[in-house]
Amino acid sequence: LSALLRVTKAPADKILGLTAKFNVDLHPNKINLTVGIYKDNNGRVTTFPSVASAQSMLDSSLDLNNDLSYLPITGSQDYQDNVLNFLYRESSNGHELLEDNRITFVQTLSGTGALAVASKLLATFVSKVVWIPNPSWANHANVFQWNGFNQIKYYTYYENGKLDIDKWLKELKDNYSSADPGWPSSIVLHACCHNPTGVDPTIEQWKQILPVIHDLGIIPIVDMAYQGMESGDLMKDAYLLRMCLEYEWPNGLFVCQSFAKNMGLYGERVGSLSVVVPPQPKELKNNIDSQLKKIVRGIYSSPPGYGSRVANLVLSNPALKQQWFTDVKGMSDRLWNIRVEMHKRLNWPSLIDFKTQHGMFYFTGLNPYQVQILQEQYGIYLTQDGRMSLSGVNSSNVDYLCESLHQVVE
Ligand code: PMP
Repeated sequence: LSALLRVTKAPADKILGLTAKFNVDLHPNKINLTVGIYKDNNGRVTTFPSVASAQSMLDSSLDLNNDLSYLPITGSQDYQDNVLNFLYRESSNGHELLEDNRITFVQTLSGTGALAVASKLLATFVSKVVWIPNPSWANHANVFQWNGFNQIKYYTYYENGKLDIDKWLKELKDNYSSADPGWPSSIVLHACCHNPTGVDPTIEQWKQILPVIHDLGIIPIVDMAYQGMESGDLMKDAYLLRMCLEYEWPNGLFVCQSFAKNMGLYGERVGSLSVVVPPQPKELKNNIDSQLKKIVRGIYSSPPGYGSRVANLVLSNPALKQQWFTDVKGMSDRLWNIRVEMHKRLNWPSLIDFKTQHGMFYFTGLNPYQVQILQEQYGIYLTQDGRMSLSGVNSSNVDYLCESLHQVVE
């Protein structure tokens, strides 16, 4: 008997599996509202003007794009400089941390790669338990499990249609006594546009949450996959990063950032992991740098080049950068407009929570049975938790979508 028989069948990915099913569905009005990829009002995935300009500059300049050799293990120096500048000088006032050489950096395979490299480092040396919001992006638990965390704990985040920070903080505090101080727990915090609920704590609420996390010695992992998509303003949406930087974190602050959504570079895998390390002892930063290099070398050796060259141009050329800010605003405005249009059509105020939800997703509150009916009878695909990616909604399908929702809810 083959030892390979120990490889049992894993369940299909909760999100990506649905698109495979959608593709073979013959329903004439089918709508795919599963994956978080931004589409325009014609249902097309288009390249942002800023990114398209950067691509044509690369294509037309041998100087910019003639090097197809390996990038260094932790990415190109240009990319590191540009992204650190964007995150810690423009999005926040972390410039002193940069000047004091307290931020270690890896160019990663987008946000998922950042989470994977961070979790590998943490689970190997620092932390074996991670808190994840309930609900959360389905891949969070998977990433932490595969990279060595022993235990995934869920904190209550959203229940009965609303955010519940009292319960969240009570659960953290109640579990504190049993925590091993030598191996602090980590916690995943969605920086904005919480996936899947679209509801984030307010600034006032973060002011209550962060001191608790800090006092318990829990390590914050800020997952910033949607910067710019909450308010349309890239800078404004970095509020959680700014607030976290107001504290010293003795076990580090981990920032996992992605250009997948806000530059539309999904498949190019462009993102970063930065770790803010304590000021003392001085060798901490170099030690962490060296282990991060070893982790990357052992998994994929070095990151891909093309997408990061595109991002470099967008981040460093003032005209392209200006255009990028406009592009992000346009995307965020269209997503907001869809909410408005749906709200007009849906006689359903309790479920479209207009003022509190934002970003790419609308968390409908539909139960799994209703989601199944929508899929089987109407060809409308949501994830099983009732999350709808608004980017698949447009002026041609919004009427059909809202009529179908009424049918299913009645
Ligand atoms: N975190 C969250 C919460 C996400 O929703 C996503 C994308 N779906 C990611 C991280 C990472 O995505 P990517 O690897 O494409 O940057």
